[in-house]
Amino acid sequence: MARYTGSVCRQCRREKIKLFLKGVRCYTPKCAVEKREYVPGMHGQGRQKLSDYGVQLREKQKVKRIYGVLERQFKFYFKNATRSKGVTGAALLTTLERRLDNVVFRMGVVGSRSEARQVVRHGHVIVNNRQVNIPSYPVNAEDTIELKATEKMVERFKSVLEQTKDQAKVAWLAVDAANFKAKVTKLPERSDIQMPIQEQLIVELYSK
Ligand code: SF4
Repeated sequence: MARYTGSVCRQCRREKIKLFLKGVRCYTPKCAVEKREYVPGMHGQGRQKLSDYGVQLREKQKVKRIYGVLERQFKFYFKNATRSKGVTGAALLTTLERRLDNVVFRMGVVGSRSEARQVVRHGHVIVNNRQVNIPSYPVNAEDTIELKATEKMVERFKSVLEQTKDQAKVAWLAVDAANFKAKVTKLPERSDIQMPIQEQLIVELYSK
């Protein structure tokens, strides 16, 4: 499956929640979910009844879209989650949450995970004093993350920080926003992920 290149706001409208895919615009009243509260397409405003399979599929698509992960990689994460000791759905979400691009997004200096991914890929992220340019890199407890920003990026980070300052901070990350640094104080747990996700539906979908 190729990477989606269409309108990202359409994806939010399809899932009927804000997925924060478009940067600072997501924090303004211009957000398409706020302006048009119905799913996209010709029949978007009509009555929609999904089958059980449809509900499970939508939940899976929602999580994939939130973290910007494609189907193959998502299945890989799921397979690993089934092998873990804990609850499969929770293990899946916490693994996704530990991705380095997600951590940069959680620091509040970029507006979206795709922007965070670009920052990582371009070599601006230092983990434990070593450059890491792999967006899926899983952080561990006690890891330190530092952003090596150019002058232009500093301006951009500061303006995003201003927009995101009222957003809820994550409990497992100690962020030093002024210096673009963060420390993973503990591994994320299911209760740390506040987004409305019913991971059990994803487990049911893949268990068919
Ligand atoms: Fe989604 Fe952001 Fe577009 Fe709103 S502005 S619909 S949150 S991508």
